[in-house]
Amino acid sequence: MADSTAPTARRTGLRRTLATALAGVLTAALAAVTLSATAAQAADCSAGYVGLTYDDGPNPSNTTNLLNTLKANGLRATFFNIGQNAQNNPSLVRAQVDAGNWVGNHSYTHPHLTQMSSSQIQSELQRTQQAIQQATGSAPKLFRPPYGETNSTLKSIEQQLGLREIIWDVDSQDWNGASTAQIVQAAGQLQNGQIILMHDQYATTVAAIPQIAANLRSRNLCAGMISPSTGRAVAPDGSGGPTGQPTVTPTNPGGGSCTATLSAGQQWSDRYNLNVSVSGSSNWTVTMTVPSPAKVIATWNISAGYPSAQVLTAKPNGSGNNWGVTIQHNGNWTWPSVSCRVG
Ligand code: ZN
Repeated sequence: MADSTAPTARRTGLRRTLATALAGVLTAALAAVTLSATAAQAADCSAGYVGLTYDDGPNPSNTTNLLNTLKANGLRATFFNIGQNAQNNPSLVRAQVDAGNWVGNHSYTHPHLTQMSSSQIQSELQRTQQAIQQATGSAPKLFRPPYGETNSTLKSIEQQLGLREIIWDVDSQDWNGASTAQIVQAAGQLQNGQIILMHDQYATTVAAIPQIAANLRSRNLCAGMISPSTGRAVAPDGSGGPTGQPTVTPTNPGGGSCTATLSAGQQWSDRYNLNVSVSGSSNWTVTMTVPSPAKVIATWNISAGYPSAQVLTAKPNGSGNNWGVTIQHNGNWTWPSVSCRVG
């Protein structure tokens, strides 16, 4: 990430590989032109984000090809690595991160954790944290139990290690012999915020990537990161979740000025609270614009007006300058924007 020359070198290498592979085949050459044309377009993520996940790597026979194919198609994914594979292939773990992907913990030896003792489970998770930390410089925040098998003992150990458990919404069945077409079809079911299970070892899975990318594009969905705080897919920079950076928009149209500052409140699976603090004036109007399809479903400590479906205007109701809203996210975790004016 920090190396400014490496990405260019990688891209050039990739182009050369693609060019060689496609040379002489007219239809494939046309496909390459289409590919670079779409990659150049700004991605339209208006329908939200999905989480592509690849388990059980890294492995020397597949991971590099998988990473190159994702990159060529403008996709980023989360790799739930097996600890001993990470230990044996640290450069591939670094390559996953360098290519803009995220890395999670998938246990050290891929056992049935729910049949193990508490100390065995702890060792499986901890050794994987260490192997990945050694390879990349940071320990994962996401954990996927092998086979999706979990219980309360495992969950409490995850919690001790600061890991968020991530299962999946859609199973591609690539581990069960699904064809490329079936994997593409499975990805076609993904909705905003959802996560699909795939694996870092099958040619069918790699071959599905260009069609998965095209399908997501056609639905204005983008591949995002999995939020460690919500367990849902969000924008790659982590923005959009209720733990994003506070939005501060000072304005002063009529002499005085005021500032509205947002901070995260409690959250649930379908809604979240935002606290709003106004400074600079006690006679203010804050305008909050909520990104569709999210909706304000409750407010406190304000006199609320709704000039349109996505806009809330807030004025003091005698309860001071700290107030809040409950937002039903409807799949869009992006925080609203706010502006403040005096009067
Ligand atoms: Zn697995």
